[in-house]
Amino acid sequence: MANTDFSVIIPVYNEEDNIQLIYNRLTSVMEQLKVSYELIFINDGSKDNTLALVKALANQKSNVKFIDFSRNFGHQIAVSAGIDNAIGETICIIDADLQDPPELIIDMYQKIKEGYDVVYAKRKKRAGDFPPKIWAAKIFYRILAKLTSFPIPVDTGDFRLISKQIVEVLKQMPEKSKYLRGQIAWIGFKQTFVEFDRDPRFGGKSNYTFRKLLKLALDGITGFSDIPLKVVTYFGLLVSIFAFLMSLYVLWGRFISNNHVPAGWASTIISVLFIGGIQMIGIGIIGEYISRMNHDLRNRPLYIIKETNVKK
Ligand code: UDP
Ligand code: MG
Repeated sequence: MANTDFSVIIPVYNEEDNIQLIYNRLTSVMEQLKVSYELIFINDGSKDNTLALVKALANQKSNVKFIDFSRNFGHQIAVSAGIDNAIGETICIIDADLQDPPELIIDMYQKIKEGYDVVYAKRKKRAGDFPPKIWAAKIFYRILAKLTSFPIPVDTGDFRLISKQIVEVLKQMPEKSKYLRGQIAWIGFKQTFVEFDRDPRFGGKSNYTFRKLLKLALDGITGFSDIPLKVVTYFGLLVSIFAFLMSLYVLWGRFISNNHVPAGWASTIISVLFIGGIQMIGIGIIGEYISRMNHDLRNRPLYIIKETNVKK
C-alpha cells in the first residue's frame, strides 16, 4: 500500500450537524496541502444520526475510516483509538464541532515540514464558551503547569499535529486515564505552537459536561504530579505540630497553673470538624490516585469497537 502522508483523527459524539461541514473543510485543506490522507472518525456512542452520516461518507470515499465504539467512552479515549489506528506520517487531532479551524492545519503543517514533531494550536481567544468555563480552564492550566516538573503548554486543547515518532511512543504509554496533551508534552522532542482565536461551536452543543471536565483535570494532575500527596503530608505535619503545642498548653493549664478553663463546647466542635474535614480531603486525594492505579491494574481494554472499516 502506498504511504499515507496524513491522518486526521476526529472524535465524534452527537455531531450530526457538523459531519458534512468538517468533512468538506478538511478535504479542501488536504487538497491544498497536496497530501495523501485518511480521515478517521471515531463514533463515541452517539445517540443521534452521526454514525449513519459517517458511514455514508466512508461508503463513498475509501480514505474515510470509521471506528464505532460499543458505548460512550469519552473524548480522550476516542482520540486514543484514532491514534492506535492511524497510519499517516503526520497525525492531526481535531474536534468535529469546528471550534478548531481546519484551515489552521496549513500553517501547522508548515512547522512539521520545518522539522518539528509536535505543533499544537494555542488559543488566544475563546469565543462562544461560557465565561466561567474559560476562567476555570485558565486557572487549571496554570495550576497544572506549576505542579509538573516539565512544561505542559497552557491554553491548548488537543488540536495539534504530531509526527509518527510521537504516535509510536504514545501507543506504548499504558495509562488508562488519558491526558493526552500532558503525555505529548512529557514525551518531548521538538515542540512548537501556532496561535489562533477559537470559534464558537458550529452546530449542536458541548458534550464536555462539568463532570467530564473535572475528571479530565484530575487525570491531568494525578497523571503528572505527586505534589498533592506531598501537600497532604506537609499539612498533616503542620497540624500535628500545632496539636502538640496545644496539648502542652492545655496540660499546663490543667495540672500546673490550675486555672484551667472549663471544657469549651465551641472550641471542641470546631476542632473536631476542622480535623474531620482535613482528613476527608486527605483521604480523597489519596483515593484519586488509588482509583487510577486500580484502573491500570484491572487492565481492561481501553475501548470496545463494535464496528470499523479500518483494516489492520
Ligand atoms: N467528544 C467525544 N466524546 C465525548 C465528548 C465529546 O468524542 O464524550 C468529542 C466531540 O464530538 C467533539 C470533541 O470531542 O468532537 C470536543 O467535544 P466538545 O466540543 O463537546 O468539547 P468542548 O469544545 O466544549 O470542550
Ligand atoms: Mg467544542
